[in-house]
Amino acid sequence: MSVVLKFGGSSITKDGFETILNEIENNKGKKIVIVLSAVYNVTNILISLMERKLNYTIQNLVDIHYKLIEEIGLKHSFIDSLIEELNKDLYKEKVNKPKILSYGELLSTIILYEYLKKNNISSSLIDGTELIRSSFSMKEIIDNSCKSQNFYCDDCIFNYVEKNEIVITQGFITKTKDNYIYTLTRGGSDTTASLIASKLNSERLEIWTDVNGVFDADPNVIKNSNIINNLDYELCQEMAGMGAKVLHPYCIRPCQMKNIPIYIKNTYDSNNNNTIISSEYNNKLSLMLDRGNKVFNITSLNMWNDYGFVADIFLKFKNYSIDINIITTSQYSVLATTKEEDEDKIMSLKEELSRHYDVSLFNCDLISIIGRDIIQNKKIPHLFEKLNNHDKIYITHFSSNNMCLTFAISNEISAY
Ligand code: ADP
Ligand code: ASP
Ligand code: MG
Repeated sequence: MSVVLKFGGSSITKDGFETILNEIENNKGKKIVIVLSAVYNVTNILISLMERKLNYTIQNLVDIHYKLIEEIGLKHSFIDSLIEELNKDLYKEKVNKPKILSYGELLSTIILYEYLKKNNISSSLIDGTELIRSSFSMKEIIDNSCKSQNFYCDDCIFNYVEKNEIVITQGFITKTKDNYIYTLTRGGSDTTASLIASKLNSERLEIWTDVNGVFDADPNVIKNSNIINNLDYELCQEMAGMGAKVLHPYCIRPCQMKNIPIYIKNTYDSNNNNTIISSEYNNKLSLMLDRGNKVFNITSLNMWNDYGFVADIFLKFKNYSIDINIITTSQYSVLATTKEEDEDKIMSLKEELSRHYDVSLFNCDLISIIGRDIIQNKKIPHLFEKLNNHDKIYITHFSSNNMCLTFAISNEISAY
């Protein structure tokens, strides 16, 4: 039997590595696959270096890793060749973005590998791009803007697990069908781990992070939020999709398909008050906040009683590869939210749409109430009453599965 243990960025610390040692002990006799993210903030630093922003230097990145290596009692020279390679890649004329991003996870995993070795634990460090593959070529990915659903875990994992008690691998990084390095979307290491657990038919997937579990609201934002101890896959999927950052939105499905329970655990708190995600039905109500969205409000009197507008508008979103989250339409207007961060793309789309329609663009946050049978829930009318007449709500959206009611609200007020 196997277990897959995934440790996120905030868990890659001296204390986090001690938790890994404990977990190796606790799972003795089982095959263990350990999936690591990059050290906290390292992916952000890599992005900033690529974009030639001046807020970080490569030395900042080196310092973070050297400090960790020193804290765990090792000598740091074993990462120097990787750093040198990164330096070269960063200053190539044509920067290979996914390759640069992969250095974060390459560095964290080699550090863990050396740490286990020092603690007399033998493990095998396997290249994550060999394990997680895309069924598409790079061109297909770019042309069709294929998303994380198109990734799978290769059969070669069986071989590695058969030959080794402990396998360490990088989350987040993958390879395309034609062997280009590619990455999942941000926070994607959870999905790497879930794809591996699903392939191996593991006993469980454990996501180790900096909170005890999935809460009914982000515990770092809402002080009196409560942990949800048992959560079913479907409800959890809605929560992950609407801002529960603790889980990458694509990581539920692979485990759900094989009915593998997902445990969320706190690297820094050994109590057992955690979340287990399984098929066991649950009808808790929770509140999700998804920050950093934009809402396009596209209007035209000509829309009334005519056809083709919606198709025309969304074709333009497609042409700029801009992903849409929430949509509402009326006789005269179409509203759509996106989390696209590329300001140039956003402004070009706005300009293009403005040639044909009246377009306004606002920053907004999405607040979602998630649960089962939302519309029958007695608390909902009260909520509408509270929000009534608020001119800063751009969209009220109710999902057809009766599980999610979302408000797109000006981020001036939703920060409170
Ligand atoms: P990791 O580095 O371990 O992958 P993440 O930052 O991706 O960690 O996810 C953990 C964070 O998710 C928590 O620190 C918390 O602020 C945030 N979060 C957002 N919504 C929720 C929620 N509903 N329940 C728990 N955590 C949440
Ligand atoms: N390191 C990547 C990120 O920061 C992947 C992950 O943490 O899961 O998005
Ligand atoms: Mg995460």
